[in-house]
Amino acid sequence: MPDRMRIIDAHTHIAAEKAQTAVRIMDAAGVEAAVVCEWHDGFGQTLQQHLREFARFEGRFFVFGNIDFSAIAAPDFAARAVEDLRRGVEAGMRGLKVYKNLGLELTDASGELLRVDDERLDPIWAAAGELGIPVLLHTADPRAFWQPIDRHNPWGAILRHWPEWSYYRKGLPSRDELLAERNALLRRHPETIFIAPHLGSLEDDFGSLSETLQALPNLHVDIAARFYHMAITVRRREAARKLCTEFADRILFGTDLILLSDTAEADIQPQTFLTPERLPERFAGCGQEMLLATSVWFYEFHKAFLETGRTQRPIPFLCNDPATALAGLDLPKTVLQKLYHGNIERLLGRQPQG
Ligand SMILES: [Zn+2]
Repeated sequence: MPDRMRIIDAHTHIAAEKAQTAVRIMDAAGVEAAVVCEWHDGFGQTLQQHLREFARFEGRFFVFGNIDFSAIAAPDFAARAVEDLRRGVEAGMRGLKVYKNLGLELTDASGELLRVDDERLDPIWAAAGELGIPVLLHTADPRAFWQPIDRHNPWGAILRHWPEWSYYRKGLPSRDELLAERNALLRRHPETIFIAPHLGSLEDDFGSLSETLQALPNLHVDIAARFYHMAITVRRREAARKLCTEFADRILFGTDLILLSDTAEADIQPQTFLTPERLPERFAGCGQEMLLATSVWFYEFHKAFLETGRTQRPIPFLCNDPATALAGLDLPKTVLQKLYHGNIERLLGRQPQG
């Protein structure tokens, strides 16, 4: 195991009232700072208030705000969103987070589904580029979300619990259509930095992901909530190692850690999707410290997965077979430094500090 490295989690969902809990978890797990994605309401007064609350923990949080899509029908929607963006950045917002509802749910005044590359949104992406803030743009989902929820579905365990997440036969655009729209948008805005979370929704097709990264220099991806699927088979793990090495400047360490206001201290870290029966026995007596203990495990698992070739079991993620073991990527230290902190610091405009 290499020496302890500086770690910035480039993708979390932490409510402002959970900042103190987050700091405890991060301290225990050796995580220096976290990018916080605001939970849909990160604009206007709410954003200003959250920025003040997170600012109490100097150097620990980088807050990414949202667009107020509820105003989508207004004729001056984009102009207002741009104005909001400027005010947010002035107050300390460090990036923009756009959820996957763009392309899959949001409709315009006429009731039409908004395309990811809808031209009416162009002023917003251009303004993000001018302001020098990255856009964390979640588009689509794994292909499995469009497939039947049977035992062959690699996301079956999750989709059986939350069938409403499935897009199977719902008449929605396909993953390929959505990703094509996203790529068209990125091509139109070469001056704007985009981070596509979850390996750009291509965790099952590293060939396409490599081609996309090659073709779009402004695209970056994070590995949030995809550690399991990026090493699900020996072949996939080898491809993941190659991808991380070849595109070391473009891949960010993010976990999708969740600490929303309704996450209790006695809860299991929600991003594991685990229930008590699936949790390792050693957590049985954690009581009020369950959230801390399982969140630290979540981080420690990620670190061993990236830094070593060790096989870990059980894994902190709900998969079809509870006995699933996962071997690590054993990435070189030079690659890890970029994934862990170098890349996100560069995108946030900070100087990497070694
Ligand atoms: Zn997320």
